[in-house]
Amino acid sequence: MKGQILLINTGGTIGMIGEPLHPSKNWKEITKNHPILWDFPVDYYQMQSLVDSSDMNPNIWLELAKIIKENYEDYDGFVILHGTDTMSYTASVLSFLCKNLGKPIILTGSQVPLAKPRSDALQNLITAVQIASQYKIPEVCILFRDTLLRGNRSKKVDATNYFGFSSPNYSVLGEIGAEIKISWDKILTLPKEPFRLEEELSADILVLEIFPGMNVNFYRGILQSQIKGMILKTFGNGNAPTSPAFLDFLKELQERKISVVNVTQCIHGSVEHGKYACSHSLISLGVISAKDMTTEASITKLMYLLGKKCSYEEIQENFQKNFAGEIS
Ligand code: ASP
Repeated sequence: MKGQILLINTGGTIGMIGEPLHPSKNWKEITKNHPILWDFPVDYYQMQSLVDSSDMNPNIWLELAKIIKENYEDYDGFVILHGTDTMSYTASVLSFLCKNLGKPIILTGSQVPLAKPRSDALQNLITAVQIASQYKIPEVCILFRDTLLRGNRSKKVDATNYFGFSSPNYSVLGEIGAEIKISWDKILTLPKEPFRLEEELSADILVLEIFPGMNVNFYRGILQSQIKGMILKTFGNGNAPTSPAFLDFLKELQERKISVVNVTQCIHGSVEHGKYACSHSLISLGVISAKDMTTEASITKLMYLLGKKCSYEEIQENFQKNFAGEIS
């Protein structure tokens, strides 16, 4: 190992014990089967509350980002132990909060706890630390099994298989076998400006997944709520029903200046407004195309822009801009 690494434990299966599985606060207990980790050349930081990542939320994200900021100058890279369930959300939001990132932040976890035999955790942990300490990758990444992925392009695609993550619309950043091969041409360039943090997020949003036959009346109550943004999960290339009821609903959202972002339900591919006649009216209704962004990146990008107190008009103008390699 070369560089100094801060290993931050947020919880997740990797550090879980017992039945049902829950996070252990005792690093010695977590690593009991792996003496190699006892004098591992990293500094260890444990979040105050360790969570199953189903309990991840903007407060923890902001706390995590702050820990990185406070330690930024003292380390060459950061490895974050995290539950796999929402790892892609955390990686995405960190990519928006950490501006001018010049060092690797690598999230990893496992499908089976480190404390259990035949776990995938040891390899993931050691590889993540090795990459963070040896390669100056200025990105928030996910390392899982044998691939290094851009965090805001990643997706959990399997709850049991050791190949748990995929990057459907962007090439992998690295392949891990007997050798580690980094695809430098796929990696963001080093920033010229100093690192800084954005410190606000707003979760005043909603995700609405459409389905054939949906009764839009069930959703009209949303219009009376305080939401400021909505992720609309549509079919295929961003296609949606053309019924007057559905279009009226979108019109009312537009009149109330609630930003609506169109994200495809498909894993691969992109929203293309106007490709089909059925998506044409979405353009005049102010619906923003997320293009090939993942749902995870779209949700956290909207939280980030709303956290910055961007107006409806500013969100309309800026959502499609590329902030951290999340959109093609
Ligand atoms: N429920 C766990 C979590 O996300 C799953 C895992 O880590 O694999 O915290």
